[in-house]
Amino acid sequence: MMNEPAKQRMTRQRQVILDELMSRKDHPTADELYAAVRRKLPRISLGTVYRNLDVLMRSGLALKLDMGGAQSRFDADISPHYHVKCVSCGRVDDIRETGFVEITLPPSRDDGYAITGVRVEFDGICPQCRGRE
Ligand code: ZN
Ligand code: MN
Repeated sequence: MMNEPAKQRMTRQRQVILDELMSRKDHPTADELYAAVRRKLPRISLGTVYRNLDVLMRSGLALKLDMGGAQSRFDADISPHYHVKCVSCGRVDDIRETGFVEITLPPSRDDGYAITGVRVEFDGICPQCRGRE
C-alpha cells in the first residue's frame, strides 16, 4: 500500500468548496458555502466544510476574514487587497484602488507583546443601502 503523501491531496470535496469560493465575490461565511456546496454534494456536512476551509487556508489557497461579524468570511482571492464592510447590511466587498499601506511599529517596544499581525478594513454604506436612505 502506498503511503499518503505529506502534502494535502486535493480531494473532490475540497475542490468543490474551492471552486464555489473562487466563483463568488461576496466573501461567504462557512454556512453560506455549505448551503451552496450541498447542492453539488448533498451528503457533505458543515463540519467537513469547516475542516476543508481550514486546510485551504493552511495551504494558502483561501483567506479567512474576521470582519467583526458573528461568523468569519472566506476569500479565495489571495492577492493583496483591502475589504470594505457595509455598516448597515454587513456586506463585504473588495477595495483595490488604494495602494497597500505599510504600518510599522517603533523598533523598541516595552509592552511585552510579540506582534503577529495587523488588519486594516474599511467601513462604509454599500450602494444598495445608500439607495434605501
Ligand atoms: Zn449595505
Ligand atoms: Mn476579497
